[in-house]
Amino acid sequence: MKSAPAVALWSLSLGVAWGQSVDVETHVTALAAETMEGRLTGTDGASRAADYLVSELKRLGLRPIPGQSDFRLPFPFTAGVKDMGSTFSIGDWAAPASGLRGMSFSDTGEVSGEVVFAGYGITVPESQSFGYDSYHGLDVEGKIVLVLRYFPEDASADVKSVLARYSGLRFKALGARERGAKGLLVVTGPRSPNAGELVGMSFDTAAAGSGIVAASITSEVADKLLAPSGKILSDVQKELDTANPHVSGFALENVEVKLDVRLERETKTGSNVAGIIPGKDLDRFVVLGAHFDHLGRGGDGNSLARKDEAGKVHAGADDNASGVSAVLSIAERLRNVELSSSVAVAFWSGEELGLLGSTDFVRSQAIPTEKIVAYVNFDMVGRMRDNKLVLQAVGTSPVWPRLVEQTNVPIGFDIELSEDPYLPTDVTSFNQASIPSINFFTGSHSEYHRPADRPELINYDDLGRVVDFGTLLARKLSELNERPEFVKVARKQQSGGSRDTLRAFTGTIPDYTTEVDGLLLSGVIEGGPAEEAGLQAGDVIVEMAGQKITNIYDYTFALDVVKVGEPVTVVFLRDGERQETKLTPRARE
Ligand SMILES: [Zn+2]
Repeated sequence: MKSAPAVALWSLSLGVAWGQSVDVETHVTALAAETMEGRLTGTDGASRAADYLVSELKRLGLRPIPGQSDFRLPFPFTAGVKDMGSTFSIGDWAAPASGLRGMSFSDTGEVSGEVVFAGYGITVPESQSFGYDSYHGLDVEGKIVLVLRYFPEDASADVKSVLARYSGLRFKALGARERGAKGLLVVTGPRSPNAGELVGMSFDTAAAGSGIVAASITSEVADKLLAPSGKILSDVQKELDTANPHVSGFALENVEVKLDVRLERETKTGSNVAGIIPGKDLDRFVVLGAHFDHLGRGGDGNSLARKDEAGKVHAGADDNASGVSAVLSIAERLRNVELSSSVAVAFWSGEELGLLGSTDFVRSQAIPTEKIVAYVNFDMVGRMRDNKLVLQAVGTSPVWPRLVEQTNVPIGFDIELSEDPYLPTDVTSFNQASIPSINFFTGSHSEYHRPADRPELINYDDLGRVVDFGTLLARKLSELNERPEFVKVARKQQSGGSRDTLRAFTGTIPDYTTEVDGLLLSGVIEGGPAEEAGLQAGDVIVEMAGQKITNIYDYTFALDVVKVGEPVTVVFLRDGERQETKLTPRARE
């Protein structure tokens, strides 16, 4: 709850009236409406959301950023990859269309020749504690390599944890290419998750191919390849699955194949929306930003919709209509204030697809990097509980702790500071450009990335207080005489494997806002493995599959080595008491 005296003090210090026609709820409701269709980048819904933002910026009397004639800042992006009829034949036998699919990162082209089976296609650099090289003793120069997806299934947890890091499909493709192979075939072994299935055309924003022609084939097609050697895939995999480094691959006898991969990368246009409030100095900007895109109807892998929610509009009220609403409301407060540095407000698209909009903004120098004093990001600020505000990335400048403390005096949040700028949100783009950045966040919840992230669950009173805080902070930043010092924060730890290796689904919702020894859960996904194991919000996981968990990185690392369908022991603290349960991970869909 906010107290009246504090508000009065705040009004004084800012020099504008409290809460004038700022309506955070109106913005959230408008953006989370069914007609916006979840604001997926490049869709009509996203375009309607951009229309709303443009009309709001006009209403508030903002101007386009210098050098732009429009509030919209379009950028191209790869919206997807389509297989346009790739073909594969072994001698005279042509595989059915359902037997293969080009890999999303493949070059388009035709290759033919002999095939060499290279096990899991993994090479672990020698600096690691043990040697593992699928290519040992194999000559693949000018040939086509066949590899298994993932990594050896029966290896010890320690060994898997190392292998998992080198088993991403793009990485395997690179390995084959570097050894002179001209083609790559991938098969999902019968003993692996998604047994025998083709690899999905997963979203891959990198527009460039990997320099090799690559396709996945079904286990039937792979068995056809192996047949002349008198082998079958399940036996071959079983032998490799111990991760014994002495089990090696082999050249396939009397097999000549032809692989023709035809892909089409679909380019679409997304649009950021940005405008400025001019200050005295038109060459210095405080940038306030929030992403306005979301997941549409949840078609790709980022949705956590439950079965009965599948295909519904993901309203994204907290993620991130809340942040957009905050930035619009701050702009409304600041537009009549005398500012030293100018303030730019920016609404990003493409965040959910990989920070595309903010990356384009920084790269294109829409506002030149050296003119940006600081960047303030708002992502998921509508679900405050217990007065707790999380401010992340404060390691990027020594100015933040002091500034935050001063700003908070009249507002009185319980603030938690986190230094790490390597966040899955737009702050990352600005951190990479060496701009002091800070991210506002009020915590995750069990509606995260589900259609259930609805406007009626937003805590509007506290969202209004976030606006107060943001307004005051922006004002203080605008008054700084110099750009604050930027500090490059070292990455603490590698953040686990790629998407390819993060294949086990546990249904836990980590609480990123609290620093505890272990992994604190803010919830569990309904009907997921964690719920079945009896885990609940508030539990702190301290051990999984025999590995100690002290933070989220340990946890992702442990996820790399658990096996789908095999129960693992989870040790957790509940009310300070150590308990144990068995959790059975499922395959990610
Ligand atoms: Zn999101």
